[in-house]
Amino acid sequence: MTPFQHGRPLPAAPAHLPPAVLSARGLVKSYEATRALAGLDLDIRAGESVAVMGPSGGGKTTLLHCLAGIVTPDAGQVLLQLDGATTDVAGLDDRRRSALRRSTFGFVFQQGLLIPELTALENVAVALMLLGVDRRGAEHSAAQWLGALGLGGMEDRRVGQLSGGQAQRVAIARAQVSGASVVFADEPTGALDSGTSAEVMDILLRSTTGTGRTLVVVTHDDDVARRCARTVHLRDGRIVRDSLCPGTAA
Ligand code: ADP
Ligand code: MG
Repeated sequence: MTPFQHGRPLPAAPAHLPPAVLSARGLVKSYEATRALAGLDLDIRAGESVAVMGPSGGGKTTLLHCLAGIVTPDAGQVLLQLDGATTDVAGLDDRRRSALRRSTFGFVFQQGLLIPELTALENVAVALMLLGVDRRGAEHSAAQWLGALGLGGMEDRRVGQLSGGQAQRVAIARAQVSGASVVFADEPTGALDSGTSAEVMDILLRSTTGTGRTLVVVTHDDDVARRCARTVHLRDGRIVRDSLCPGTAA
């Protein structure tokens, strides 16, 4: 990881709060005449679960993609603070950003984007094989993740033989098998009924913040947001509300 050298200093976290793992500073992103992000600042603390809500077109997906190094902002910084090093994600070259996405970040999308020709086990193992882990070791870890997420016995099923909720659990396992520190989810329950959605959210939270990792989840669903420790509302590329949910663990 490249140590961050040229950025604005970050404010120290108050002593009773964990430090920020991701900090957006002055993020601006436009698509031609559309300003998707209009100078956005956000600190996400290690171990926090943050729901990102707001009207369609408000910039939620763009924010997630900038934080995760999928999209480069036109201006501003995304500072990742991990293991004592600070990295400006937006300032990394393509190769380093893509390495970061594979090793440090995990992604869950609305449709799991699993590979239909592969089994559940192979879909998860592939994330590790991309990091150079041999097939045997990758499949061993993948099986452990599937078991932990309640999919023991379904390792050999192909995507078409899984329910929507099961497929999302495979996607959650794939997002985390490489030991991601931050998991980004974009409407992960958007295609599920409410009962399945609650189950998938519980599993997503338990497997991320439940083990000290960080979750950033874009959602339209109040029930999903209520399960998160904090909700950030975006409108027109700005944060218009940032609130802690009472009674949640993290
Ligand atoms: P949300 O996820 O909140 O619905 P987005 O971040 O997807 O919002 O989009 C914010 C704005 O940027 C919208 O007006 C959208 O149309 C525009 N936008 C997003 N991605 C692109 C793109 N790749 N090309 C052109 N416009 C885009
Ligand atoms: Mg979106």
